[in-house]
Amino acid sequence: MTDSVTGANRKDTHLRNVNVNRDFKPDLIGDLRYAASGDGCPKCGKPLAEVHALELGHVFKLGTKYTEALDVKYLDEKGEKKTVIMGCYGIGVNRILAAHIEEHHDAKGMVWSKGIAPYSVLLITLNQSDPQSAKIAGEIYETLSAEGIDVLYDDRNERAGVKFNDGDLIGIPLQVIVSERNLKEGKLEVCKRFNKETSKIQPEELLAWIRNTLAEIS
Ligand SMILES: [Zn+2]
Repeated sequence: MTDSVTGANRKDTHLRNVNVNRDFKPDLIGDLRYAASGDGCPKCGKPLAEVHALELGHVFKLGTKYTEALDVKYLDEKGEKKTVIMGCYGIGVNRILAAHIEEHHDAKGMVWSKGIAPYSVLLITLNQSDPQSAKIAGEIYETLSAEGIDVLYDDRNERAGVKFNDGDLIGIPLQVIVSERNLKEGKLEVCKRFNKETSKIQPEELLAWIRNTLAEIS
């Protein structure tokens, strides 16, 4: 190209009548594109594979850019002054949470893995104004807490549908549902958030069910 227009490394600024070799010398001339799956590896020639990944942390070698500017020196074994080579690393705590949700969710909301879940168990009453439900749920909350199980108790006076939707949205791994109908049969309903599999159990079986299920899910 002759007399071309280029950027000038400054916003909204362009240079006209630029000529290669007269105004600048290219470091490299070639056909460039992003590597794609199946391209040959530049080192061994084998086909490259493409995988989806997320950056959770990183390490940068900063070299002597800042230590030279700040005159940071050390003495080596011969007593000579040398400039410190600097590096830094970072890990994205909030990014880990965001990445986890991106990988583990469904149409209803988040699905926490047990190792990262803020609570292991969500306890829901379907009718908080029913004294029996509130009493049983309160006892379950106390028992589980005393056993060292992290439990979030939804004791709001909300409709059952709202509580179920919120429970699925926040994605706590195990749900324990206290309803008047099931209490009449002496039962509790339990649900695994990741596959929405529900079952009815006796209150005495609850602790064992929670322990066993937490051991078997990821
Ligand atoms: Zn290779």
